[in-house]
Amino acid sequence: MNITVVGTGYVGLVVGACLAETGNDVICADVEAAKIDGLKRNVLPIYEPGLEAYVERNQADGRLAFTTDVAWAIGEADVVFIAVGTPPDEDGSADLRHVLDVASTIGAAMRRELVIVTKSTVPVGTAARVAEVVARAAKHAFHMVSNPEFLKEGAAVDDFMKPDRVVLGAESDFARGVMAELYAPFVRTGAPIIFMDIPSAEMTKYAANAMLATRISFMNEIANLCERVGANVDLVRRGIGSDGRIGPSFLFPGPGYGGSCFPKDVQALARTARERGTSLAILEAVEAVNARQKHRVAEKLVAAAGGSVAGMRVALWGLSFKANTDDMRESPALTVASDLLSAGATLVVHDPVALEEARKRLGDRVSYAGSGYDALRDADALVVVTDWNEYRHPDFERMRSLMRRPLIIDGRNLYSVERMGELGFEYYSIGRPDARAWAPAGQVGSRT
Ligand code: NAD
Repeated sequence: MNITVVGTGYVGLVVGACLAETGNDVICADVEAAKIDGLKRNVLPIYEPGLEAYVERNQADGRLAFTTDVAWAIGEADVVFIAVGTPPDEDGSADLRHVLDVASTIGAAMRRELVIVTKSTVPVGTAARVAEVVARAAKHAFHMVSNPEFLKEGAAVDDFMKPDRVVLGAESDFARGVMAELYAPFVRTGAPIIFMDIPSAEMTKYAANAMLATRISFMNEIANLCERVGANVDLVRRGIGSDGRIGPSFLFPGPGYGGSCFPKDVQALARTARERGTSLAILEAVEAVNARQKHRVAEKLVAAAGGSVAGMRVALWGLSFKANTDDMRESPALTVASDLLSAGATLVVHDPVALEEARKRLGDRVSYAGSGYDALRDADALVVVTDWNEYRHPDFERMRSLMRRPLIIDGRNLYSVERMGELGFEYYSIGRPDARAWAPAGQVGSRT
């Protein structure tokens, strides 16, 4: 099939490369010339495990091409995926400017009967608005499909190649037939294709992200309460996660959720509810809890340091909003960094892949370390913000010998409290007892 994907970001590039991998002829179009120039030379604008090999192979085999000429690319297509960004606007609703821009280009540029797929996360009613805009100039029949994307950054290729399910909102048999054929190679092991009407498909994506964000905020509040009542959230998590009705995923407390999806999607859904004369009280709370949680790591350090971090040299491990991506949009690390800097600390930051992205956002307000250990040299404290694998089993002796004061605030609960106490660290995490072996009157496993 001839596929055009408009928008070559985290989603569009993965969709394009994976559809080419299954034998389709794919053109990825984007307005950012630098991005397209790089991609033509197999230089990827993002870090995503496994993606580079797909781009290289399919480009070499002639199944994948890149262009800035969006209109030309649309003219070549049987199916167009709209995968441009839908950032929040000032009032929290999804900004549909890019989506509607693409819609008007489609109307003018289509050269045959077309299936138009909204892949971007868009509020209920958007496919109808896209159809209206396309229809103003369209000279051929077209069929709207809403096909929300559930991939996770950091595992995007795997998620797209082996989805748990494919959700397709479509209103014509033609569109359902085309999409079923396109997705057949990805659901061979039995994952369902769930067909539905278009508004329900649009809603499904928001409901999924809102549910996941709710679990995170819920567990963060439970963790904070665990600290006050002397419970350990690790044990509570295992205790509830083994209940089949609850399940073990998304129950890890941490420094708050970030990224390009949860914050904006929760906000947009809450906004939709308000616009329709109702409210989603749960989501308003989820957002407020998350905003508070992002300050917890810095607050814990201030408390551990006796009320002030002014003049302290602090190492910060992990800048991306989660492991295995260089995406720093809404990353909790930005809040942690900004809180500590404004409290007078000096920061030395490290991340396995997001340093380049971090330079754009943090500039010369922090120093950048080439390795996690380099960041620890003469540090008065370490804060761990992202759960990269390489931070999970570090050489603790080496860490101790590099640090001026062996004080760790672990925003991801990566280490055993008991072990950290035995090793002589002052160790604070989220929702678990503290280890305060280093403190002069030190007591392992004591509580604040
Ligand atoms: P992104 O910002 O990484 O990429 C968007 C791309 O669209 C950019 O390269 C931009 O230059 C391009 N673009 C903007 N306007 C354009 C136009 N008129 N013509 C051509 N290209 C244009 O965004 P993303 O993270 O890939 O997200 C895209 C959509 O998918 C969003 O709606 C997002 O909510 C949704 N989504 C994202 C994820 C994720 O994990 N990132 C997961 C599921 C769904």
